[in-house]
Amino acid sequence: MPSPSLAPTDEQRRPGLQAGRLPAAEIERRFADAHPALNAVQAQLEADRCLFCWAAPCVAACPTGIDIPSFIARIAQGNLRGAARTILQANPLGGMCARVCPTEVLCEQACVRQAQEGKPVRIGELQRHATDALFADPGVPLFTRAPATGRRVAVVGAGPAGLACAHGLAREGHAVVVFEARAKGGGLNEYGLARYKTPDGFAQRELQWLLSIGGMELRCGQVLGRDFTLDGLRRDFDAVFLGLGLAGVNALGIPEPEAEGLRSAVDFIAELRQASDLAALPVGRDVVVIGGGMTAIDAAVQSRLLGASQVTIAYRRGPDAMPASREEQRWAQTQGVTIRHWVTPKAVRASEGRVQGLQLVGTTVVDGRLVEAGDAFELPADMILRAIGQAYVPGPAGADIALAAGRIRTDDEGRTSLQGVWAGGDCRAGGRDLTVEAVEHGKRAARSIHLQLCRA
Ligand code: SF4
Repeated sequence: MPSPSLAPTDEQRRPGLQAGRLPAAEIERRFADAHPALNAVQAQLEADRCLFCWAAPCVAACPTGIDIPSFIARIAQGNLRGAARTILQANPLGGMCARVCPTEVLCEQACVRQAQEGKPVRIGELQRHATDALFADPGVPLFTRAPATGRRVAVVGAGPAGLACAHGLAREGHAVVVFEARAKGGGLNEYGLARYKTPDGFAQRELQWLLSIGGMELRCGQVLGRDFTLDGLRRDFDAVFLGLGLAGVNALGIPEPEAEGLRSAVDFIAELRQASDLAALPVGRDVVVIGGGMTAIDAAVQSRLLGASQVTIAYRRGPDAMPASREEQRWAQTQGVTIRHWVTPKAVRASEGRVQGLQLVGTTVVDGRLVEAGDAFELPADMILRAIGQAYVPGPAGADIALAAGRIRTDDEGRTSLQGVWAGGDCRAGGRDLTVEAVEHGKRAARSIHLQLCRA
């Protein structure tokens, strides 16, 4: 993706929330694929760099345990369909994970080539090469569904965890109904990731491929607690999987005035992902994003791509503590985003119902505790995006389900405290909120549910 020009245009200089800061064609150009796919020659050369290690450390570092040397060997042999089979066998959402996994802290960090040369095999891009080839020409089904068992499972949430679970159960011959609150399936893949990571409707193409296994019914616009209850699902189905995600957004911890321009980064990204015309989307001239995770990076970079003149990420600790990797931080900086570490918000300044600035103060660590240090200062801001994490909202699932650290407590297989109810993805306690981890939760829960149904 081309970097945005650092010289602001007149439109970019206009204060306040403004749509069309750049010509539509320029915005489209900026939102093109962030990392264009490898071509056949590049993929071949990269596959040839793999040492096909025995007890490969890259496999152990992949939360879904993809047999990485095997799929790379198949690419090297020109067998892209076989490579895709190896990937999707272990990770049915391997196409999306190839685009959004932080490989620099997972498989590629563990790669032997990284230790030897400081340059890992580009595993994520090879994974994308193989899965893109399959989605471009799926041919006969890669996996076949077992004969119908007559057992029914409800999955709540059509995000990565729910879809991985549903697909695994459907393959075993169970009938799965997936209840999704939003208008489309895909969860964060459809609503929560930067647009330039998943262009060309990839989340929906992947969803259609998953559904093509058969035995999965997707019901959108169905809200737990409004259109159905957990008790009802437990009564009507043989098992239930909860992939609820995190519906709440953490507050800043300072007064948040009702003012135009102050909003959640999650909502901003969702609106941007669903927009049919990016040039019609308002964005500030001076944008401040508060937080340090992937949501903060995605919101900040996309604000810049829409034409914001100055975009700053404000994070309360140093670069090593940021949930977004060093690679992601560098990426944001190359797109013109300024990252200010060791600062925390003190006050939102608003006037006439509009955000005008954000007051911040420095931070430091004393005796292991983060404390304020130095004088307060203000950044001009006509748009402030909160990206300081999301929270599990327990209400819809009912009060009976046990929690740990504010999320659903499960065992390793995803079993909750309620008989016949499993959970996975971000709503489950103890995870790192990664797409690939959510897929593994769904996979393990599907295996556990299947074994339970076989025994019953
Ligand atoms: Fe290939 Fe690197 Fe994995 Fe070894 S660690 S098998 S070189 S990708």
